Amino acid sequence: MIEKNQVYYLRSSDEKISELGECGGALTTLMKFLLETKIVDGVLSVKKSNDIYDAVPILTCDANKIGETAGSLHCGTLNIAKILVKYFDEFPEMKLAITVKPCEAETLLELSMRDKINLDNILMIGVNCGGTFPPVPTINMIENIFEVNADDIINEEIDKGKFIVESEDGSLKGINIDQLEEEISCENNIYGRRSNCRRCEMNIPTSADLGFGNWGVLGEYTGGYSCVEVFSERGAEILDKSIKSGFLLVEEPSKEAVEIRQKVDISMVNLAKNWQNRDFDVNKNDILSILTIYDDEFKKCIKCFGCRNACPICYCQECTLEDSAPEWVDKGKIPPSPLFHLERLIHMVESCTNCGQCEDVCPMDIPLAKIWHQINLRINELKYSPGMDKKELVLFDYFKRPE
Ligand code: SF4
Ligand code: SF4
Ligand code: SF4
Repeated sequence: MIEKNQVYYLRSSDEKISELGECGGALTTLMKFLLETKIVDGVLSVKKSNDIYDAVPILTCDANKIGETAGSLHCGTLNIAKILVKYFDEFPEMKLAITVKPCEAETLLELSMRDKINLDNILMIGVNCGGTFPPVPTINMIENIFEVNADDIINEEIDKGKFIVESEDGSLKGINIDQLEEEISCENNIYGRRSNCRRCEMNIPTSADLGFGNWGVLGEYTGGYSCVEVFSERGAEILDKSIKSGFLLVEEPSKEAVEIRQKVDISMVNLAKNWQNRDFDVNKNDILSILTIYDDEFKKCIKCFGCRNACPICYCQECTLEDSAPEWVDKGKIPPSPLFHLERLIHMVESCTNCGQCEDVCPMDIPLAKIWHQINLRINELKYSPGMDKKELVLFDYFKRPE
C-alpha cells in the first residue's frame, strides 16, 4: 500500500518506455496509465521541438503519444502554469495531469488560491529541479567551452552536479556546474543556470501530488529507477492503482538512500542561500528601501508589458496598467511611471514564486526576478511562503507589522 510522505523506487514495467524515459521511465508510464484508465482527460507536459534548446508545450489525450514527453529538457524554460491559466479557462471541467517543476507547482497553488484554477481537476506530477539553463548562453557555452557545434548536440543531462551533452556521434562532454558558474563565467559570458534558479530553494516539488527524480537512487537501481516521494493522499492513490494494475514496478529504497536524497536537497538549499547572499543584501528589511536601490534599473523600463504578459501570477483579464498613456511610443524619452512596477508589485509580489519568466523576457535586462525575490523574502518573514502555504494573502500585513 502506497502512503503519503513515503519515498519509493519506481520503474516502468514496459521495457520500451523504460529505455525511452529517464530513470526507468516511471513518470512517462504513470502518465500513460492515467490516460488509459481515464483518470484524466489529458496530459499537459513539454516536449522537444527543433532541438534540445527548444521546449514546447504538448497537450495530449492519446496514451500512444505520451512517449514524446519522455526525458528532461534543462534548457526548456517554459512555465506550464501560465499556459494552463491562459488557455484552459474555457475547459474548467477538463481533468488534467501536468508535469511541473517546483516553481510551477507553487504557482498553480497560488493561482488556485486566487480562484483562477480548480486544483480538484489537476494532478500535479512534480519533478525535482536543480535549475534550468538559458538557451542562448548555453549554446554559446557549448561552442566556446566544449568546442562542439551546438547543432550537433542530440541530448543533455545533469548528473552528479555535471552538465553533460551528447553529440550525434555518441561522444560526451561534461562540466561541473559549480565550476561553470564560479570559475568560468565572467561579466561578458555568464554561463550556467538561470539566476533565479541559482537562488531557488525549492528543489523538491512538495506542493505537487508526487515528486519524481533520481536523487537517492543508489547501487543496482542507478539509472533504472526513479525515486518518488508522495505528497498527497491523491498522489498515493494513483500510484497505488498504477502499481496494482501492473504499469509500475515498485521497490523500497534503503534508509541510506532516503538520507542521501535529503542530503542532496539540503546542499542545494545551502547553495541557493549562498547565491541569495551574493545577489543581494538578504537582511535589508524594508520593501520601499529595496525598491529605491533598483531605481536606476526601473528607469530603463520601456513599458513593453513583456514582464506582465509572461508572469503566471499576473492574470487580470483587464489590466489597469493598460489605461496609462502609451509611454513605450516615446521609448528612451519618457521613463514609465514607477507606478507601473508598484502596481504590479501589489498585484503579484506576495504570490511570486521566483519562476524567472519576467526577467527572461525583459528586453532591457532589468533583474526583475532578483528584485521581486528580495522583496518576497520580506513577505516570508510573516511566515508566508508563496505556493506552499494555503492561507490568506498577506501583503498588507507586512505594512502592519510592529517595527
Ligand atoms: S526556479 Fe527553482 S523550481 Fe523553478 S526552474 Fe528554477 S530551480 Fe527549478
Ligand atoms: S514576478 Fe516574475 S518571478 Fe515572480 S511569478 Fe511573476 S514572472 Fe515569476
Ligand atoms: S519587460 Fe522590462 S522593459 Fe518591458 S515592461 Fe517589464 S520591466 Fe519594463
